Amino acid sequence: MTEIVLASDNVKKLKELKEILSDGDFKLVTKSEAGYFEEVEENGTTFEENSFIKANEVMKHTGKISVADDSGLEVDCLGGEPGVYSKRYAGEDATDAEKIAYLLNKIRETGEENPTARFVSVITCVYPNGEHFSVRGSCEGKIIFEMRGEGGFGYDPVFLPDGFEKTFSELTAEEKNAISHRGNALRLFAAEFAKRK
Ligand code: IMP
Repeated sequence: MTEIVLASDNVKKLKELKEILSDGDFKLVTKSEAGYFEEVEENGTTFEENSFIKANEVMKHTGKISVADDSGLEVDCLGGEPGVYSKRYAGEDATDAEKIAYLLNKIRETGEENPTARFVSVITCVYPNGEHFSVRGSCEGKIIFEMRGEGGFGYDPVFLPDGFEKTFSELTAEEKNAISHRGNALRLFAAEFAKRK
């Protein structure tokens, strides 16, 4: 069975990646399991660049097919922020609650009462021969000004996906995976990966 190295050590993100990719004909290992413990610096300015940087770095160190997700939240009234800076928006070591508080303050300053937003996930797969491809998934919704729900991670408690009365945190893992940016990108990835094999 083909082994794929996931270029992330974010436990919650890995859980989603593994849940959604569990049906595929491949074995998933994390970069630490593959013996690579460094944190790859994400110095690109687009989701595509950052996911390529991460997957390519891990492929070069492990010699195996490597896959990275770069994801984030784009809020329209903030001109698409925090975007690729979603993880570091309120500083390197900020907790999820601090990131959310920072985001809500930024939105309040604009005066927008119905802030539309989307989550974006770009997944890049790099093969040992240097070939690579990327797929992009997104999920439209809006930001609410109170935190609701316990599940998920990051900005999930304040993101209400279009067509739902529940935030990403209030949905079950299966419900979130069925509509999320990462779920959509991973399904595109699995189809493209199967085609190229
Ligand atoms: P990165 O892809 O590791 O650079 O991190 C993306 C950041 O975007 C995460 O640390 C979260 O703050 C946010 N993010 C990405 N996907 C999700 C999600 O599914 N729910 C909530 N926040 C997310």
